[in-house]
Amino acid sequence: MKFYNYTDLTKQEVESLCLRQLEDDLTIKEQVKTIVERVRAEGDKALFDYALNFDKVNLEQLFIDPQEIRNIASAIPSEAKAAIDTAYRNIKAFHAAQLYREGKIETMPGVTCWRETRAIERVGLYIPGGTAVLPSTFLMLGIPAVLAGCKEIVVCSPPQKDGKTNCYLAYVATLLGIERIYLAGGAQAVAAMAWGTASIPKVDKIFGPGNRYVTQAKQLVQGTSMTAIDMPAGPSEVLVLADETANSSYIASDLLAQAEHGIDSQTILVATSSKIIDETLTKIGVQLKALPRQDIAAEAIKNSYAVLVDSLEQGMEFSNVYAPEHLIIASDKFEQLIPLISNAGSVFLGNLTPESAGDYASGTNHTLPTSGFAKAYSGVSMDSFLKKITFQHITPRGLKNIGNTVEVLAGAEGLEAHKNAITIRLKENGYQ
Ligand code: NAD
Repeated sequence: MKFYNYTDLTKQEVESLCLRQLEDDLTIKEQVKTIVERVRAEGDKALFDYALNFDKVNLEQLFIDPQEIRNIASAIPSEAKAAIDTAYRNIKAFHAAQLYREGKIETMPGVTCWRETRAIERVGLYIPGGTAVLPSTFLMLGIPAVLAGCKEIVVCSPPQKDGKTNCYLAYVATLLGIERIYLAGGAQAVAAMAWGTASIPKVDKIFGPGNRYVTQAKQLVQGTSMTAIDMPAGPSEVLVLADETANSSYIASDLLAQAEHGIDSQTILVATSSKIIDETLTKIGVQLKALPRQDIAAEAIKNSYAVLVDSLEQGMEFSNVYAPEHLIIASDKFEQLIPLISNAGSVFLGNLTPESAGDYASGTNHTLPTSGFAKAYSGVSMDSFLKKITFQHITPRGLKNIGNTVEVLAGAEGLEAHKNAITIRLKENGYQ
């Protein structure tokens, strides 16, 4: 882990520290373009080939049907089933509370405007499954999709070694009432959902995190296939902001929790004391040895860094430039920092709130903007699966009230037909 002293850094140095692996992205972009174009041209055939190339599986068919999903799900251990059930209830409760009906607004007498919510009809959920299968992501995307009332929910996840999916994903599918899981991963799965193939239906919006191939593919198809995406959610990242009230063992565990996602995960420690940084590095060394994914985590930690700051406020300044996907405030003084947070995907307050709680079960969504996109994007929520359609109705009184304003503005823009659409009504109704 590299080390920086914030006060020694220029503004440009801070900004370049906050950049995420852009050089590699150009190469990946080219690879992804080739994959997407091939899936568009060859459909299922390309998906079978890529499953063999990248996932090392010779598939017989590209999906698992309902009966097989139920069979696979029945193998779930009871402890895991109970944990998934609890997470399901919490995530559902948090997301259901986001559904509300907006009132109608009479902007001037006789002119009424309002918005109504409709579900996006066909949604595609990408559930990562390369280095680890993530049933938690299935819960995070599937629950709001079902609550929103999306008519068609297409689920893609990379095939596992046996050419199937695992019991956890299958169990989540049964909980959500989703009948089919498509066995496609990476950029090819995104392309399939964007363009449609003989097996995989085209969708209107693609959701889900994934590695850099998945993220690049989502950004690419967004511009070319009339398919919306939730956000560019790429390799995971966490920024821990710590002061002397923090516990270095906890910080080490939080940094490693992100690091084990993938070698491109970023873990940043911003601390007000070099003692905390030193202690955390020691604890990382100890905890790392016990992790089954220690090679991945160690590689990610190597690419990460620590920043020494003078105060929590200065640390927050850095964090807002970095715009982390996950921000952990490892301090008893978290309350006073909340108003200072301007850019973050999801925030974990205090020393007893690990980011893992939000990853799995507290209720908030774990599909979050990475790579600095937290400056402009929110994480997935009910809103992501809904459209808001605006409505308006004008009564005779309303026409009289608003008519002249529209005529004048249309006239000022030289749009005579717009003006006339009002004038003709005003005249015919005896107001002019
Ligand atoms: P994945 O499902 O995203 O990707 C696996 C697929 O990548 C494979 O099926 C394969 O088709 C493709 N692939 C692998 N190597 C390739 C290559 N050389 N060229 C082209 N395609 C290739 O699974 P993963 O790799 O385990 O990555 C999951 C990612 O999701 C991690 O980076 C993790 O940090 C991230 N994640 C992010 C969030 C978030 O909210 N941002 C949440 C959970 C996970």
